[in-house]
Amino acid sequence: MNQVFYNESDRIVWEEDLEDFIPYKIFDAHVHFWDDSFLPLKDPQRNNFVNSDLQITERWNKQMFPGRDFDYLVFGMPLANADIKANNEFVVSELAGKPNSRKNRLVTPECKTEDIYNDVVKYNFVGMKPYRQFSTTGDINQCRIQDFLTHPQMELANEMGLFITLHLSRYHGCADEQNLIDLEEYTTKKYPNIKWILAHCARSFTYWPLQKAINRLRQIPNIWYDISAVSDVMAQYTLLSKEDHRRILYGSDNFTANAFHGRYVAMGRFWYQIGTPEYAKKNNIHTNSKPILAIYEQLLAFKHAAQLAQLRTEQINDVFYNNAKKLFDLKSM
Ligand SMILES: [Zn+2]
Repeated sequence: MNQVFYNESDRIVWEEDLEDFIPYKIFDAHVHFWDDSFLPLKDPQRNNFVNSDLQITERWNKQMFPGRDFDYLVFGMPLANADIKANNEFVVSELAGKPNSRKNRLVTPECKTEDIYNDVVKYNFVGMKPYRQFSTTGDINQCRIQDFLTHPQMELANEMGLFITLHLSRYHGCADEQNLIDLEEYTTKKYPNIKWILAHCARSFTYWPLQKAINRLRQIPNIWYDISAVSDVMAQYTLLSKEDHRRILYGSDNFTANAFHGRYVAMGRFWYQIGTPEYAKKNNIHTNSKPILAIYEQLLAFKHAAQLAQLRTEQINDVFYNNAKKLFDLKSM
């Protein structure tokens, strides 16, 4: 999936369903920059991901979001075997000419806090990007936050007032009791200065986790959400209708998880990333429409959720830009 194609159905959905809805100014709070050269030569993960630097990202955004103005919160790709240091430095150099974009430093439990501190000071990282893939327990599905982001690292983030973009692990994501207890303890007792951005609607790809957890999440201070990759209307609607919309940020997860024709499909409480099925690529089915990019599915879900929740235009503008402007202290340009 290292090529992104834009098809006629994408163009029609943009023009007829999205063009009038998407604001001019956009801050994308979930973007990965990556190059395969960060992996060892024969690593099997090579060619799994789109090589994405600033130029490629901007070029694609021009096609997917014609006429829009973008800034970003960027991090590298949290892959085992990858050269984390090189990926972090790549993000730094790529964003040198984007004063209103921000970056998180990839961290693994092996990263020394003094190195993180030095990088934050030297390169102006605003936060950290840990990932469950690096869990010290070896269980990437059922690990707790502390298993892939160490307490000394959280202490540093707390001292420096850093952001942490958090992809929650554990089967039930934000509805998991242990995750909720940890978040409540960290935000109200141990690390009150950390600003958490819970990726993928607090990792709620179906109706269920947010429906279960939203009444507790909305009480937790210092958390925000990015809406990246979630193409389920009910998850987006629960967030928009039950949370303070000022805590919600637009994010895409391009080009890691959202630049393919397909979507994140909810099947009950199960969900999975599903690309275009083979049979749908043939023309003998009952429509001449083709599947659209997952990023457009996400935007359609958000649009429909916003309609259901009766969001006003200025609230939609807040999600796409103004909330990030305030949070990251962006300058008017
Ligand atoms: Zn991501």
